Amino acid sequence: MGKEKYNQPESDIMTHGQNPYEIVKGLLKESVGTLGLNENIYHLIKKPMRVFEVSIPVRMDDGTIKNFTGFRSQHIDILGPTKGGIRFHPDVNLDEVKALSIWMSLKAAIVDLPFGGGKGGVIVDPEQLSERELEMLSRNYIKKITPIIGPQKDIPAPDVNTNPKVMGWMIDEFDQLRGYNIPGMLTGKPVVLGGSLGRLEATGRGVAFTIREACKVLDIELEGATAAIQGFGNVGSMTAKFLHELGVKIVAVTDAEGGIYKEGGLDIPDLLEFVKDKKRYASEYPEAEEITNEKMFGLPVDILVPAAVENQVTKDTAPTIQAKILAEAANGPTTPEGDQILEEKGIFVIPDILCNAGGVTVSYFEWVQNNMNYYWKEAEINEKLEEKMLYGFENVIQMREEKQCRMRDAAYMVGIKHLVKAMDARGWISEKDHSS
Ligand code: GLU
Repeated sequence: MGKEKYNQPESDIMTHGQNPYEIVKGLLKESVGTLGLNENIYHLIKKPMRVFEVSIPVRMDDGTIKNFTGFRSQHIDILGPTKGGIRFHPDVNLDEVKALSIWMSLKAAIVDLPFGGGKGGVIVDPEQLSERELEMLSRNYIKKITPIIGPQKDIPAPDVNTNPKVMGWMIDEFDQLRGYNIPGMLTGKPVVLGGSLGRLEATGRGVAFTIREACKVLDIELEGATAAIQGFGNVGSMTAKFLHELGVKIVAVTDAEGGIYKEGGLDIPDLLEFVKDKKRYASEYPEAEEITNEKMFGLPVDILVPAAVENQVTKDTAPTIQAKILAEAANGPTTPEGDQILEEKGIFVIPDILCNAGGVTVSYFEWVQNNMNYYWKEAEINEKLEEKMLYGFENVIQMREEKQCRMRDAAYMVGIKHLVKAMDARGWISEKDHSS
């Protein structure tokens, strides 16, 4: 085990790619302008209302104490409590968490959820931790952010490298601190603890719905269309499952360890079975050829799905892309330079804040079920999810028509407009702020 990996940077300096907080601020500013709103609106939404940094000491298995750094950012709470996942990743930094919390606000606004955006993260490579160390880190992190979270305040959930098991530890810690069960304090829990049916599949299912709708717009026949997916964690694997069910041929999948390719289409049910116990990577699947991440980006497929982390579609990878649709299952996978190239190439982008909104949507349903203490059947949840995703998709398409702009700008504008409505209703802004 590389122990030096625990010595993570403690500043908010991005070690890879571009700073997502700068990217999101640029996009917010531009969209506020295109909507003809005053710059005051931009100033109201450009910063999270609250950010929290915590130190998380953990006694490691070898007896030493490591002190990890964690964050929680809460963007805006005018529509309801803030909401968003917690990621465990070595590249986590304050600016990334801030950006992710802003994206969560826009996401919730686009699909009309009564939430603002929140996000948390811990600088850690969870692969370097034993199960006990991971549990201690999860419990200690939630303990540290307890003063600022709660079912009516800020509701965490899973994100990169966290899952229902981690949520189970976290809710147990929170319940023990408070002295009674509070299932609505976080979502993405194990079903037995009040988790929602369909939550695990929700993000991927939502991604597939948006791809289906994009195919209608572009007149692409789904049956027999081809796709490549970057990332085979929860979101990537579930997207593969639902695209496969829609008749799409997934020809390539890459992950942190490598990639696999099969011209005629990978056997997705078999691949899902192969990675099921989480002991093997998708890239170790033997029934396929090897492929690099770079090559995967340039495959002649109809649909490309980045489902990993930020800054993947860049000035280097975007020129090679041949896909007709880029479905951003990950948060922030495209840099501004990458975006520019996609636009020049006429690639239809389903922006992250629309594409992956299915996760937080079913998290909302989970929270509603927790609050009323009555649980719905999975079919009902999936139907409600589809309704929300279609609502978001149609609104973004309409905005795109109205403003003759890119899908990303349209999505930002739909989200901002909704926030502006709430600011108006709360008396935060006046008539003057509605014109530039
Ligand atoms: N982490 C997910 C996201 O980025 C889900 C958040 C949630 O369920 O609250 O949308």
